[in-house]
Amino acid sequence: MNSRSEFEALDAQDELAPWRDAFELPEGVIYLDGNSLGPLPKAVVQRVQQVVQEEWGRELIRSWNTADWLHLPQRVGARIARLIGAEPDEVIAADSTSVNLFKVLAAALEMCPGRAEVVSESGNFPTDLYIAEGVVHHASGERVLRLVSSDQVLEALSANTAVLLLTHVDYRSGQMHAMQEVTQRAHEVGALVIWDLSHSAGAMPVDLNACGADFAIGCGYKYLNGGPGAPAFLFVARRHQEAARQPLSGWLGHAQPFAFESGYTPAPGVDRFLCGTPGVLGMSALETALEVFESVDLQVVRSKSLLLSQHFMELVESRCAGFGLELATPREARLRGSQVSFAHPEAFAVMRALIAQGVIGDFRAPNLMRFGFTPLYTRFTDVWDAVEALREILQERRWDSPEFQQRTAVT
Ligand SMILES: *Cc1c(COP(=O)(O)O)cnc(C)c1O
Repeated sequence: MNSRSEFEALDAQDELAPWRDAFELPEGVIYLDGNSLGPLPKAVVQRVQQVVQEEWGRELIRSWNTADWLHLPQRVGARIARLIGAEPDEVIAADSTSVNLFKVLAAALEMCPGRAEVVSESGNFPTDLYIAEGVVHHASGERVLRLVSSDQVLEALSANTAVLLLTHVDYRSGQMHAMQEVTQRAHEVGALVIWDLSHSAGAMPVDLNACGADFAIGCGYKYLNGGPGAPAFLFVARRHQEAARQPLSGWLGHAQPFAFESGYTPAPGVDRFLCGTPGVLGMSALETALEVFESVDLQVVRSKSLLLSQHFMELVESRCAGFGLELATPREARLRGSQVSFAHPEAFAVMRALIAQGVIGDFRAPNLMRFGFTPLYTRFTDVWDAVEALREILQERRWDSPEFQQRTAVT
């Protein structure tokens, strides 16, 4: 394909095209960063206004009951459960991804006494590794964090593995693990598996229960569009819920929070993974953002995502050839998630120049430009236009200007 009109034709046939109107997307922006911060769903604007003005403003504290604020974590969790192949009572929304990892990893470790190792990938998202370090440091017994490269994960598993902690889709390369096979191999050595779904929930069908997953965590502000700092979620397979005890034993994870007892009794089921009072504004925004997913088929989302990203890879490689870009994402569909990364020695400056041009992706150290493909609002013509903008910047060396070299606090 080498003309814009061919991409226009794909847009004309796209069954997901009408969903674009459900989002606030500024004029003149091509947003290829919904894998980092999803855009604002229009319905969220009204919902948050209603929560603030009516539920908080007028109903005041009565809203814990009348608007059922108390069960937002379970309601939001049930909506997410559908997207990740879990039962509604296996998922709750709470805290941040980092905090949820702390809770589930500590619980999982306690369930595997006599095994020393938490195995993860050296390239895993840093907060996952930092939290694992923290949990291992505070765990009882001799526990260690063992980091291996992504192609050595299966070999690293042994009778000494307590927990395997992996991110399903790698945040840098977009490489995707075979969830079913990896989970099975970990179970064969008697280890538990925690999947981080931050880059998969809402981007593709995930089937935790079909894979036999033990625990999972994930992010609410990426593909789920819950807004900056949205609550995260966690999954505990039903078969583990009675045995799993998490260390942040706050009152909302108590069996009877409003009995105000002085001793802790964990709530039955996944509710014991709650800690304190939910952020009602953020939970309400996420609950409404998830409505979109009630009526879209994630298989259709996945198919379009693969098509968008495949065209992007091919166009960049043909139209931007000779400018030093190198594909850092596996080409094969079954091996990649919903993003494409290219390495370039001046990746930071090129991305700044692209953003100045209205094409928003992001930079990941040390040398990656990362582009997320989010089929609910990304058009095929956006792919064409983004690659043309990139070509012009590289051709005219527009990135080579002091304004694009200055590092920002958030990249
Ligand atoms: C985005 C992301 C997180 C985010 O963690 P927070 O605690 O929400 O800041 C964690 N893990 C992975 C793999 C991510 O991609």
